[in-house]
Amino acid sequence: MKRHPERGTYDRATIDVILDEALICHVGFVHDEHPYVIPTIHARDGDTLYLHGSPGSRMLRNLAQGIDLCVTATLLDGLVLARSVYHHSMNYRSVVVLGRAREVTDREEKLRAMERVVEHVVPGRWADARQPSEGELKGTTILAVSLDEASAKLRTGGPSDDEADLDLPVWAGVIPLALVPAAPAADNDERVPSYAERYRRPNGSATLDAE
Ligand SMILES: Cc1cc2nc3c(=O)[nH]c(=O)nc-3n(C[C@H](O)[C@H](O)[C@H](O)COP(=O)(O)OP(=O)(O)OC[C@H]3O[C@@H](n4cnc5c(N)ncnc54)[C@H](O)[C@@H]3O)c2cc1C
Repeated sequence: MKRHPERGTYDRATIDVILDEALICHVGFVHDEHPYVIPTIHARDGDTLYLHGSPGSRMLRNLAQGIDLCVTATLLDGLVLARSVYHHSMNYRSVVVLGRAREVTDREEKLRAMERVVEHVVPGRWADARQPSEGELKGTTILAVSLDEASAKLRTGGPSDDEADLDLPVWAGVIPLALVPAAPAADNDERVPSYAERYRRPNGSATLDAE
């Protein structure tokens, strides 16, 4: 890392927490000499990051060939308002994973990866909903990416203003941001399961009430 290397880390525990808390990632790759960055859902299982989707997906079809890829996940924690426009910033936690994907063909690993994807997004949901049929299992492509080459970058704290600007009559500070769920909207039964009412963050570090 060249810009603000002090914000970077290769610590796996930090990387894991960010990947687990982020509900989506973006996958970058080159196809036919064009770069694409595609938003998608991911899930981590130990040292492996799983991606899933339709066998018809251009992204998954190409990545399954073992081409180079780059996965990023970003959590936006706040807007940093400085006294000068130049020093405005954002507080964030992000991860970049570089590597190549392997297509998962083993039935048990496929099922386990699907479970991880569901549990990553809504912990407690997998055991409650109908399990995948053989057709659904066959109709889902699962790719595995090793977390061998991964980095995290974090910015925390207030604005870093120049000394000369500190007395300017301009409000400065941080506007914290968080992804907060609204009240569940039932499709059938009004008895909302506990995991939907109290949406638990995947890393278990925080619980956000529905209201
Ligand atoms: C919400 C948000 C807003 C940002 N806004 C800006 C902006 O406006 N302008 C800007 O220049 N930068 C911004 N950044 C930082 C940006 O992501 C890069 O870190 C930055 O461009 C520095 O890149 P570099 O040239 O030092 O490293 P690169 O040469 O681009 O990267 C070298 C290696 O460092 C690691 N790395 C780099 N960035 C990250 C990262 N963010 N997370 C994890 N690993 C990383 C990767 O392993 C990468 O392969 C923002 C980041 C976030 C999360």
